[in-house]
Amino acid sequence: MSRRGLIGASAVGAGLLASAARAGEGATTLSKPCVISTWDFGIAANQAAWAVLSKGGRALDAVEAGARIPEQDLKNHSVGRAGYPDRDGHVSLDACIMDEQGNCGSVAALEHIAHPISVARRVMEKTPHVMLVGAGALQFALEQGFPREELLTDESRAAWEAWKKDAKYAPRANSENLDYRQTSGQLGTPGGAGNHDTIGMLALDAAGNISGACTTSGMAWKLRGRVGDSPIIGAGLYVDNEVGGATSTGVGEEVIRNVGSFLVVELMRQG
Ligand code: ASP
Repeated sequence: MSRRGLIGASAVGAGLLASAARAGEGATTLSKPCVISTWDFGIAANQAAWAVLSKGGRALDAVEAGARIPEQDLKNHSVGRAGYPDRDGHVSLDACIMDEQGNCGSVAALEHIAHPISVARRVMEKTPHVMLVGAGALQFALEQGFPREELLTDESRAAWEAWKKDAKYAPRANSENLDYRQTSGQLGTPGGAGNHDTIGMLALDAAGNISGACTTSGMAWKLRGRVGDSPIIGAGLYVDNEVGGATSTGVGEEVIRNVGSFLVVELMRQG
């Protein structure tokens, strides 16, 4: 299968959001600054990012500020605090961030910390590494002064208890939002039918620099230790300041298999 065909195939299980920054024939020219993100809960996130960008702020600061909005939204069960847990009841979070110089940081299977995107940024800025996982990521976050918190809310616990009655291990995209769909309002309404999944965000600042962020609680009821595409640079997020950026949401296993975000940026590079 051609690489373009591969993207078409993976789009069945995942959505990829891309932004081309390069001006010129055949490329989309974006006005600066701008920000895009996944899903309708991204609207509030975009507003937080815009508060940074509209004052001439840096894209990196904008995407971090934006990603923190769904991370702290108790109505959002697929990102950050109040995310649905794994099958054993642990809320474990994945996130990554990347700037215009190719610097990047990531955390995976991080528990008890409400803002994994900010921990990912600290990994990028304070360590010689790109990725910290599990207990080591938690240790690092605590050393950096992030508070240790219980992230499993009563609502998320109740949903987990309900799932355990059948305990069918069949993770799929959007399962964490069935309640929203059943009870909800319309597309665009917070908590409405269009609300689901990971937030991936890309911003282009007034200086012409791009950064991206991606943060999630992953698949609801996943196996303990499962990590999806979201914290993996090249899969859940990729930025190339000369070309553009891409980020993804959907079934992470599909995106990891073809390194989806890198692939999209590479195809944009080739025009
Ligand atoms: N991509 C995320 C993951 O696989 C989940 C999602 O976006 O629905 O963990």
